[in-house]
Amino acid sequence: DSLGHRVGDVVLKRAARAIQGCVRDSDLVTRHRDCDIDTQVARLGGDEFIVLISNFTGVSGINIVAGRILDLLRCPMEVDGHEVVVTASIGVAFTPDHGADADTLLKNADTAMYEAKSAGRNNVFYYDATMNARMLERLDLEGELRHAVERDQLVLHFQPQVDVASGAILGVEALVRWRHPYQGLLSPDEFIPLAEETGIINDIGDWVMREACRQNRAWQDAGLAPVRISVNLSFRQFGNPDFVARVQAVLAETQLPPKYLELELTESVIMNDLHSTLRILRQLKEMGLRLSVDDFGTGYSSLAYLKSLPLDTLKIDKSFVMDIDGDNDTARLVAAIIAMAKSLQISVVAEGVETELHRDFLAGHKVELAQGYLFSRPVPAATFADMLQHAALRPVTGTPPFWEASSASISAFGSH
Ligand code: C2E
Ligand code: MG
Ligand code: MG
Repeated sequence: DSLGHRVGDVVLKRAARAIQGCVRDSDLVTRHRDCDIDTQVARLGGDEFIVLISNFTGVSGINIVAGRILDLLRCPMEVDGHEVVVTASIGVAFTPDHGADADTLLKNADTAMYEAKSAGRNNVFYYDATMNARMLERLDLEGELRHAVERDQLVLHFQPQVDVASGAILGVEALVRWRHPYQGLLSPDEFIPLAEETGIINDIGDWVMREACRQNRAWQDAGLAPVRISVNLSFRQFGNPDFVARVQAVLAETQLPPKYLELELTESVIMNDLHSTLRILRQLKEMGLRLSVDDFGTGYSSLAYLKSLPLDTLKIDKSFVMDIDGDNDTARLVAAIIAMAKSLQISVVAEGVETELHRDFLAGHKVELAQGYLFSRPVPAATFADMLQHAALRPVTGTPPFWEASSASISAFGSH
């Protein structure tokens, strides 16, 4: 207003072009049927524009577009010798959550836009107030997660896999944590789903695999008893065409013999594309890796894959193990899983072993390996090295098994 209508018109046109550059051709927005064919962004009136994203694949896509618009508009414009700075406030509504017709969506997006303005401008607000709060939080978290690897904020904890009969530590699972700058140590459940949704999991997964192999090699070089390390895989990593090559590169770089690396796949990863899964798993087997099915029993998969895929280990999900209570149905179910694995010559790891009752049950059914709080929670690398040394120093035969060591030494390892 202060620079006159002409300048105002130029600013609006430039803003329109900037917004247009932020959306795909398919995100067509028109003001009226009679407007220019190549118009992609409509001005509703005054300083209000509408963008229609027609290929809605999730809020992360919207966040990307909205973020781009904010960034572009924030750049100062030169108009008639004046430097003009504008900011945008964006309100978002999407169907079906926020309305099923154009009028409702426009109204709700408008409401959200006003909230964005009153919250200080240069913001993106989603229509529902509670959801909107969550979205912004998520957006922050996503931005921070993108830098977590390069800022060295990820850390691995290690949980031993213990031989049920002898008490020796034969394996270890690497479990990632995020040392968040203000929120403290975040567990994988708090950021892996977001990492998978946004694709950040590929960087995280690479880091985890490299760090797990490097650490395992370092323990061996320090003279500790060699153990196998298990690394969890996400479906996103597994779908990468160069996944096998990446694993190969990590093994070469860290000099870890492949037999000391086990990859854990959930049933949903395996069942996602059975044909290509089979091809990849065969390649990994040829390289000498071990493969396990994680959280067995929680997926919706057919049992047929167990005999057709080159699997070494089946990890019985902790929800079953924790439910074992003498001779209840769960106990019989677990016994049946163990028997089935045995007949297929697949070894068994029981997860979530928390009590002596669980352990005795598993010992009675000749389960080889157990993992759970009874032995140790996941612990930092140095603590695990201590445990390994402790276990390696102890002769395997004729001494009390690991879990019968003084409760003090077990709880000393039990810090999370
Ligand atoms: P998971 O692979 O099934 O790992 C076992 C989880 O069970 C771990 O939780 C562990 O702390 C917990 N646990 C172990 N023993 C017991 C027990 O006796 N009782 C109970 N109640 N829980 C026990 P955590 O570390 O929070 O990890 C959760 C999940 O996050 C993992 O489940 C895994 O699916 C995923 N995850 C962890 N690290 C990675 C990673 O590097 N990449 C990917 N893609 N996923 C990861
Ligand atoms: Mg696992
Ligand atoms: Mg599991």
